[in-house]
Amino acid sequence: MVLSKTASESDVSVHSTFASRYVRTSLPRFKMAEESIPKEAAYQIINDELMLDGNPRLNLASFVTTWMEPECDKLIMAAINKNYVDMDEYPVTTELQNRCVNMIAHLFNAPLEETEAAVGVGTVGSSEAIMLAGLAFKRKWQNRRKQEGKPYDKPNIVTGANVQVCWEKFARYFEVELKEVKLRDDYYVMDPEKAVELVDENTICVAAILGSTLNGEFEDVKRLNDLLIEKNKITGWDTPIHVDAASGGFIAPFIYPELEWDFRLQLVKSINVSGHKYGLVYAGIGWVIWRSKQDLPEELIFHINYLGADQPTFTLNFSKGSSQVIAQYYQLIRLGFEGYRNVMENCRDNMLVLKEGLEKTGRFSIVSKDNGVPLVAFTLKDHTHFDEFQISDFLRRFGWIVPAYTMPPDAQHVTVLRVVIREDFSRTLAERLVSDVEKVLHELDSLPARVISSTTVTLSAEENGKVVVAKKNPMETQREITAIWKKFVLERKKNNDKMNGVC
Ligand SMILES: *Cc1c(COP(=O)(O)O)cnc(C)c1O
Repeated sequence: MVLSKTASESDVSVHSTFASRYVRTSLPRFKMAEESIPKEAAYQIINDELMLDGNPRLNLASFVTTWMEPECDKLIMAAINKNYVDMDEYPVTTELQNRCVNMIAHLFNAPLEETEAAVGVGTVGSSEAIMLAGLAFKRKWQNRRKQEGKPYDKPNIVTGANVQVCWEKFARYFEVELKEVKLRDDYYVMDPEKAVELVDENTICVAAILGSTLNGEFEDVKRLNDLLIEKNKITGWDTPIHVDAASGGFIAPFIYPELEWDFRLQLVKSINVSGHKYGLVYAGIGWVIWRSKQDLPEELIFHINYLGADQPTFTLNFSKGSSQVIAQYYQLIRLGFEGYRNVMENCRDNMLVLKEGLEKTGRFSIVSKDNGVPLVAFTLKDHTHFDEFQISDFLRRFGWIVPAYTMPPDAQHVTVLRVVIREDFSRTLAERLVSDVEKVLHELDSLPARVISSTTVTLSAEENGKVVVAKKNPMETQREITAIWKKFVLERKKNNDKMNGVC
């Protein structure tokens, strides 16, 4: 006799996943389950939980690419099982990385001799690239100090207070003191004069940013270069410059070709760029390029031969995927100079539309520049009734993710909202966002006068181990959320942490 199974015991390969018991049990969070579950159920449950993540395309907080052509998606999927480090087994992938290095070095005006290939490497992102560049500077400085018989135990690096968190990581992980030039009102990037004043005999390099994370502004690398040449002449030091072009490295060459920020400047010894920002590749790729072989100390390069032929490597990790390298090469040949220029021009135009729309409300001051990274950073003129954090919260309800954050010292009293314009942020979306911001302003304007009695929400919180349930109206709840968020931000600021939502 055949026993009929209950729906809950049935096999998901026969019945719908939603008719199975797997959707009725909660998934393990801390300890691996004893038993396997069917692949259909695993897929469905994880896929469904991920629906609660924000929509990457509406994530206006990030510079990182969220759209690529389907043809490139295909190449990425085809290479998903290739380990990049197996260079002998996948020589073509290695060759594609080298071609990318050459093209990017050329884009940055590296002084390439006919016979000498550019020196550079693909990384997981600008953070890894910056660690490598920083290590090269540290080692070069130490070698020089040793030769001169001088102490080499107190290296420092000079940056603006607006640096991305990865510089602080570099400083802490590799024990280099970070000397930050403070910002001031209406000046949110590193002042080259002040930076050069901070340089001393222990300075391994000055790091300038092409496209400040906070307001997109390009720092004046040329002025820095000129001032530092002077100082080096007087002191006999040899302080070099690194340019953190994480976002600007794929913008300036295309739409500001006259701007001198790269290897055209004598003291610029290395540059990093995020392939996954305006290099237009999904998250997981960055590049670091050195001006010449002499700028990368040989002792930092490891030669491995157990995967086949002798392979030089200079990275912080070993295994990683190949897809991103392949995707970068796809973009470089698919778009060419013309394509990148068109994309960047479109981004700039859409940024201007958004900026003008926001200015038209009469409520904001714009703190970004038209000729930097295409983003709009703006701040409220009047904070009497509400602030930037509330605008950010309210915009979430329309699906937009627009971060609000405070500036670093000494401009910490300034809070800004920031919208990054990526390739896939079209004119229609820009106009739509302006209209949603207007709606939010309208809503916030009417907030104090509004009486809400009929709708209440339940908020439970744990107080001294007891669960308290309070009835609150939505506006009170909204204000509370904003207050908690603000406290959280202040707490982080106290701990000298950078916002990690803005990258
Ligand atoms: C994004 C960014 C970084 C970090 O780059 P990742 O590619 O995310 O590691 C560093 N510096 C600046 C200026 C950035 O904008």
